[in-house]
Amino acid sequence: MDALADQDPRPLRGEPLSLDLLNTRWHDEQLFQQPNGLAIWLASNGLTDRVPDSPAALEALLQTRTALLALRADPRDTEALNAVLSHGRIRRTLDRDGQPHDEPDVTDPVWLAAWLAADDYLRLLARGPSRIRECAHERCILTFFDTSQNGRRRWCDMANCGNRAKAARHYAQQKG
Ligand SMILES: [Zn+2]
Repeated sequence: MDALADQDPRPLRGEPLSLDLLNTRWHDEQLFQQPNGLAIWLASNGLTDRVPDSPAALEALLQTRTALLALRADPRDTEALNAVLSHGRIRRTLDRDGQPHDEPDVTDPVWLAAWLAADDYLRLLARGPSRIRECAHERCILTFFDTSQNGRRRWCDMANCGNRAKAARHYAQQKG
């Protein structure tokens, strides 16, 4: 499982699940179009044992990614995400030691990863919609959740996009 996660070729990893799903697209590449793409994504997110590596699970994730992209384009475009959310719910239970549990309860395991990603997006919205942001580099489509103190993170990755943008600006100034 770790070996699979190590094969994850994406430039940005480790964002919350919903944004990590969006970040399966970068520049002209897509993780899910690569061999083992779904298995790698599931491993990267610790979902290998809970979600089947199947075409149906992939289809559910692609549907969810499309729903999230629609919402990023227009926050009122909620229909597709709500359709994904209709495949599951949170089941609350109490065990005999007095511990409460919240368990995702999905209609079919193929929907678990997709539903968790949709649910995660709601959680991020509750924490701060303005902190869900696309990288400021004009050619970068990666999305992140800004957890910085001042809320001023602009780049998916300072070393990569931040410096590239700085260099481009510097070059433009030299030319001008
Ligand atoms: Zn970037």
